[in-house]
Amino acid sequence: MSTPQVDPVKVLQKLASERVNNISPSGIRKFFDLLSSMEGVISLGVGEPDFVTPWHIREAAIYSIEKGYTMYTSNYGLSELRQKLAQYLKSRYRLSYAPNTELLITTGVSEGLDLALRALINPGDEVIMPDPCYVSYPACTVLAEGKPILVPTTEENNFVIKAKDIEAHITPRTKAILIGYPSNPTGAVMTKEQLTLVAEVARRHDLIVISDEIYERLVYNTEHTCFASLDGIKDKTVLLGGFSKAYAMTGWRTGYAAARPEIIEAMTKIHQYTMLCAPIVAQMAAIEALDRGDKEVEVMVKDYDRRRRVMVEGLRDIGLTCFEPKGAFYAFPSIKITGMTSEEFAQRLLLEEKVAVVPGPAFGQCGEGYIRCCYATSLEDIEEALRRMERFIKRHT
Ligand code: PLP
Repeated sequence: MSTPQVDPVKVLQKLASERVNNISPSGIRKFFDLLSSMEGVISLGVGEPDFVTPWHIREAAIYSIEKGYTMYTSNYGLSELRQKLAQYLKSRYRLSYAPNTELLITTGVSEGLDLALRALINPGDEVIMPDPCYVSYPACTVLAEGKPILVPTTEENNFVIKAKDIEAHITPRTKAILIGYPSNPTGAVMTKEQLTLVAEVARRHDLIVISDEIYERLVYNTEHTCFASLDGIKDKTVLLGGFSKAYAMTGWRTGYAAARPEIIEAMTKIHQYTMLCAPIVAQMAAIEALDRGDKEVEVMVKDYDRRRRVMVEGLRDIGLTCFEPKGAFYAFPSIKITGMTSEEFAQRLLLEEKVAVVPGPAFGQCGEGYIRCCYATSLEDIEEALRRMERFIKRHT
């Protein structure tokens, strides 16, 4: 007698909570599962620095282990790290945060985002965010039982969320605005003037703004404006930052949240039961990064900028229109001239030319017609990927 076939999707649906069934697996993950079984692929896919963490930061971590720093820290994180962060935010953005009550060390912006949403959102509350946006924004909102409200952004508007569009989406259920600039996936940066208009809307409608500034240091020929530093908006802002991108520390899992004491307290209530604290060794490394990591950040930013120009010019040379990214490490070219969907383009490019990119719709419907190309990879790989893409485009246009 043959055993009946088990459908894993159905089993998962039955086992998992409604909350989990309400989110789909990340479009990025799905794509990279496919890639892992292939050889000779150039990946412009994963959004991660190709540098290793600077040696003196690694050394500080090794030394901390040697000294026996292997225990829990305060739920809020090491006091010394919070003090250094307060100094950093003061000197960089003229922002004053009290280290003991207004800063929380998290396991990356990822945790900070989850905590902020769960701490602030009631079931059914609406959170306004740009489309396209980082994959975790809608998913974490759903997991917090909130409702993501996606506001379309376009290439013509430099993929920037406009204050008047935000205002048009506000309802009595709107609780927060969630923005992340420099943007993953577009590389867009918002100017101080544009952010000021968003701040005015938030103030007028009494909304919280969660501002994911993980890419604050990675900007090119432009300045980063820290949202919380705008006039009269600090108390309404949850600033999320981290070490992953600027210091090439993705694997260390350390970041921070800065906000008024009541919000930090609410977030810490969840953090103390779920994470307890960020890893002590990573916190030690983060102290060293803040103390002596600036030079390396500058060198890496210069290098990303060089690759950015090669990538953008290369994409334009092979006939794709490409908006100029001013931050992070992504280019977001349009592939509309090929007549393919983004998914089809990415799959065929991978199978025919062994170049991995992420289809734009992984980041929201407005990403249709675009692909995300990460340029945090070697110049040689970028140049070879461009040659392969040129062949592909020639064949398909
Ligand atoms: N926010 C954005 C916009 C990102 O692109 C990423 C990672 O790709 C994260 C947050 C996650 O940051 P962390 O490593 O600090 O959790």
